[in-house]
Amino acid sequence: MDQKAQASAGPSADERSAMNEAIDRALRAARESGKSGIAATVLKAGKVVATGENEVHLQCDPTQHAEMVAITRAAQVLGTTDLTGCVLISTLQPCEMCLSAFRFARMERVIFAATQAKVPEKYFAFPHLRLDDFQRGTNFTFVAGVGEELVLHLYATGDE
Ligand SMILES: [Zn+2]
Repeated sequence: MDQKAQASAGPSADERSAMNEAIDRALRAARESGKSGIAATVLKAGKVVATGENEVHLQCDPTQHAEMVAITRAAQVLGTTDLTGCVLISTLQPCEMCLSAFRFARMERVIFAATQAKVPEKYFAFPHLRLDDFQRGTNFTFVAGVGEELVLHLYATGDE
């Protein structure tokens, strides 16, 4: 199924600006040792609540994806595990773990740059599952491919 068919309206100015900032962090992180070039942000009412980069190697923890780091920090900043109304921004389509965390945090909107179809399978633990599979029966919306052309080279080889 065409992902765009189920995607919601395009990003707001705040969301686009947060994505641009996340892309800058991803490009910077890709040059730092121990960090992968993946960055995420949690927005609430258009304001940045928390940011994160992939710290899997830095922390020696397979759960420290950029989105997990950002969601954890957002919950700490807001003092609640209920992130209803918050928006998740990521430079790479969130994997299954991060999408689950996003849902457990009650978030309903995700915006990402690089899409699953254009990156190596290794970024997904269950590559046969598509965003549509996760979206079925839920109320979350997504906007795919925002700024994708600026980050695809980071993920081309799957080394990150
Ligand atoms: Zn993930």
